[in-house]
Amino acid sequence: METITIRDRQFTLSIPEHDILKAVKNVAEQINNDMQNLNPLFICVLNGAFMFASDLMKHISIPCEITFIKLSSYAGLYTTGVVKEVMGLSESVIERNVVVVEDIVDTGITMERILSSLTTQGAKSIKVATFLQKPDALQRPINIDYVAMKIPNDFIVGYGLDYDGYGRNLKEIYTVIND
Ligand code: 5GP
Ligand code: MG
Repeated sequence: METITIRDRQFTLSIPEHDILKAVKNVAEQINNDMQNLNPLFICVLNGAFMFASDLMKHISIPCEITFIKLSSYAGLYTTGVVKEVMGLSESVIERNVVVVEDIVDTGITMERILSSLTTQGAKSIKVATFLQKPDALQRPINIDYVAMKIPNDFIVGYGLDYDGYGRNLKEIYTVIND
């Protein structure tokens, strides 16, 4: 069992790089098929989604744009339930077909907030592409169009996701070992 230590916690390897890249490519292919001629605007939710967005975009072959917003809601291992907008959207979404690119949908509170904001701002259509989803943690009735991988309700790090700011650089996903 491959384990690593980040700050005060131990984590074990749970999704290898090869499986991640295959699942990400699969999402890109679905979007290429579904969104031809729609000139999508991808909105990457920083910080966590930077690695997913980067690998995803390498396989998007239709004309598109990408932009970034920054939100945060986690402190350590637990969601605070309060979503802070740190950096807002600089582009207009009016009449645009947008794709929100997220690292993980957990309770769905963050995504619900993003979707309502984009609707208010006049987006023509909104799709959600998330790298990970924890189906058992969902508390909000949101529609998720593309999910690369579904995972159990455990805290994970790597591939953009952090533990107290660390671990975002890992190219695999690691799950916390509870003690
Ligand atoms: P939600 O609002 O859906 O509960 O949480 C969404 C955000 O919480 C995600 O965008 C992500 O930043 C963070 N998050 C949720 N679960 C995890 C996890 O297991 N590990 C890490 N590092 N972040 C998580
Ligand atoms: Mg996120």
